[in-house]
Amino acid sequence: MAYKMLVDMERCIGCWTCAMACKMCHDLPDDDYRVTVRTNGSGAGIDRPQGVYPNLRMSWQPIYQTSCTWCAERLAEGLMPMCEYECPTEALAFGDDADPDSRFSQNLARCKEKHCHTFELPEYEGSRTGVVYATK
Ligand code: SF4
Ligand code: SF4
Repeated sequence: MAYKMLVDMERCIGCWTCAMACKMCHDLPDDDYRVTVRTNGSGAGIDRPQGVYPNLRMSWQPIYQTSCTWCAERLAEGLMPMCEYECPTEALAFGDDADPDSRFSQNLARCKEKHCHTFELPEYEGSRTGVVYATK
């Protein structure tokens, strides 16, 4: 058994609600984030797409830091992690990867039905382990 967070990048709209919800929940200082949201675009600036019109592409990718605790205090009370709870598009799904009924497993199955592939970040990214990204 391992707790994991699924990020459905086909649903993420880059709103940063996850990041802000975490800060509010844990009363973090202004410059302290446990999850941030990366824009995968042209690299020229935030929210600028890759490609040439009309073939443009942009996506967003929440990056979980090693300081993320999976909201242990909320889990102990049977609650969802706050970032997952507040995400407006249900792009996040947390749970036991060995339990086929967990939200993680259920949403992962849904992503695979949509022919998404999955990946995790390599260690050099410095992010926490246990985050699975799904994208087409
Ligand atoms: S994961 Fe959800 S809350 Fe976070 S940026 Fe994406 S859509 Fe917004
Ligand atoms: S799981 Fe909890 S601690 Fe980790 S980023 Fe989400 S809200 Fe913050």
